[in-house]
Amino acid sequence: MGGTEAIHFFLAGILGLLVGSFLNVVIHRVPRSSRSTAPAINYLLVPRSACPACGNGLGWSQLIPVLSYIFQRGRCVVCKAGISPRYPIVELAAAGVPIYALICYEATMAAVVVSVLMWLMIAIAAIDLENLIVPDCLVVPLIAAGLLANAFGIIVEADKAIFGAVVGFMSFWLMARVAREFIGRPALGGGDVKFFAALGAWFGWQALAPILLIASVTGLGVGLSLRFTGRLGPEAPIPFAPFLAFGGAVTLFFGEALTSWLITFHPF
Ligand SMILES: [Zn+2]
Repeated sequence: MGGTEAIHFFLAGILGLLVGSFLNVVIHRVPRSSRSTAPAINYLLVPRSACPACGNGLGWSQLIPVLSYIFQRGRCVVCKAGISPRYPIVELAAAGVPIYALICYEATMAAVVVSVLMWLMIAIAAIDLENLIVPDCLVVPLIAAGLLANAFGIIVEADKAIFGAVVGFMSFWLMARVAREFIGRPALGGGDVKFFAALGAWFGWQALAPILLIASVTGLGVGLSLRFTGRLGPEAPIPFAPFLAFGGAVTLFFGEALTSWLITFHPF
């Protein structure tokens, strides 16, 4: 690796940490503001970040991504309330995004666009994990952004993207209806339907079946193991967006290998 390349990776990692820090604000505030009519930018920027337990406003030394969490041993400096490990995890994941994008796409527009997509998927997955909702204010722009990016063919051709958004929405909506008939209560949320449409807009219709397969298998595996170990009640809902996001990420980075594997073993 050359010196310039190393600097690129270093700067990408720093940028990713800062974005991750902002994503944590989004993950914390968006679900709490769903009833607010104020523009998103208002509640994301004011007031400044504070400990949710004691309300102590955070100074700069408590806002350093990952490091603050380590030095404070995962606790608020004032009231010693535990801080969710979600904060450093999101920051580290967000830092990895542009580094991996640089490896896959080099310093191109595609690397920037794919990074934004991955960051948004991290936020959507974390919000669903903590609140069991997929907010419209994140997932609807994600559909539009996917169609826009693929109008320039960043990941797939425009026609595959448009068809992907439509097929993603309709197929998942139908599955949600069927699941509700069988289970007798909503099993898949309306937010999941829009998120699947967004994945179709980004990765194209041909990626929807592999994404759904990966998401269902991993979701079922994690859900069942949590239930068998008693960490999740038998009636407790399982958030599906994190598994859809995982399926999307796998398809993005291993899509070609995956597609050729499917074609080789399942000629349809
Ligand atoms: Zn506190």
